[in-house]
Amino acid sequence: MTHLCKSRLLLLLSLSGMLFLPSGCEKSEPAKATPSATGGDASGQPEVEAKLASADAVDGKVDKVISRCAACALGMDGSSEHALETHGYTMHFCSSHCRDGYAENPEKAILGMKVPAK
Ligand SMILES: [Zn+2]
Repeated sequence: MTHLCKSRLLLLLSLSGMLFLPSGCEKSEPAKATPSATGGDASGQPEVEAKLASADAVDGKVDKVISRCAACALGMDGSSEHALETHGYTMHFCSSHCRDGYAENPEKAILGMKVPAK
């Protein structure tokens, strides 16, 4: 009986091996037909870019430094002690806690910033 089982197993293995072969030879489709479909990366998100640009202007100078704490929705003054580089901007946070919180979900924090209207 054991002999039969063994040969059966071998047959199964070779069968599944043959099944896997054709798919292995298949040409894979070009993966990046629509790069922005998933929206995984933040760069190129117009909303985020616009928010960063206006947050940058809050301190009166467009120098790619956002001096207000983004994690506090720009409600607090940030410090260069707790700075972070993001999307080409240097962001100052009021505390390391804010900086870490921001780093967990940058896009959410950026979009949640309240840029004061002039
Ligand atoms: Zn803060």
